Amino acid sequence: MKSVEIKNLNIGFNTESGFRQALFDVSFNLYKGCMSALVGESGCGKTLSAMSILNLLPKSAVVKSGEVIFQSKNILIQSSKELQKIRGEKIALIPQDPMTSLNPLYTIGNQLLEVIKIHQNLEGEEAYKKALDALNAVQIPAAKERMNSYPHEFSGGMKQRAIIAMALSCNAEVLIADEPTTALDVTIQAQIMNLLKEIKKERQTSILLITHDLGLVRDNADIVSVMYSGRIVENAPVDEFFKKTSHPYSIALLDSLPNNRNRKLDTIKGQPPTIHETIAGCRFHPRCKKCMDICTKKIPSQFSVGKEHFSACFLNG
Ligand code: SF4
Repeated sequence: MKSVEIKNLNIGFNTESGFRQALFDVSFNLYKGCMSALVGESGCGKTLSAMSILNLLPKSAVVKSGEVIFQSKNILIQSSKELQKIRGEKIALIPQDPMTSLNPLYTIGNQLLEVIKIHQNLEGEEAYKKALDALNAVQIPAAKERMNSYPHEFSGGMKQRAIIAMALSCNAEVLIADEPTTALDVTIQAQIMNLLKEIKKERQTSILLITHDLGLVRDNADIVSVMYSGRIVENAPVDEFFKKTSHPYSIALLDSLPNNRNRKLDTIKGQPPTIHETIAGCRFHPRCKKCMDICTKKIPSQFSVGKEHFSACFLNG
């Protein structure tokens, strides 16, 4: 069942040299009890797409067209009062650096209680019990004592757990996890991803995982959308994607993944274009080993290549 529909987003920025488009017709859905991954190199537009779900776009961003539908409303045109109710309470963000969301001056317990007071309108014992339940749900040991700890007394993994606890204490229906494990070592990374998978299953939460790491996608996500230079170039259920990777950019990303399919480790030549560069046709064509004449002139549409599997490449047309 769909929980969020991102429809044909065209977003850009007004710069000194004029309007520069950063997202081109970006569409994807989030589903209840499902982890969707948005994957691509830095600057491809995945964080901008994710932030549009919270309507937390940079001030200089201009939404040319498109909608983000949540509970039959377009988030992009809601009032700030309405957005305040949605953010944190219904849709919560797990950032790459938990310290951007935690206040170093207050204990973890105080911060949890504040969130519960604002979003659940609960105080006193009832709020305290809810906060404690949330810390236990994210498997923070000695949760009662940890209520009195300050963020600096928590490890990186524990801080991420505390952020997830805040989302759980408000019963958030959608979690946006923006590179949530990048700063953590591999063991802790696996623990946080397992925790997210448990939450997804037990609470039927929709999770959007933003990552550059296809290995993380393979091990954790259910659906994957690959982004390149502001466009979704491939979209598929994860099993299907790894069995039948279609888009040359996705294949190149996979080839640059260590230990994948015993293929030779390869790199993608060149750099993704910046928003200041105008590229005719397929935006991947200057780096694509399979580039054809048509690719430099026309923009490929999304072609069906399997069940719920789409690829924006002329080779699939
Ligand atoms: Fe490569 Fe052409 Fe496909 Fe773009 S459309 S990915 S340039 S083959």
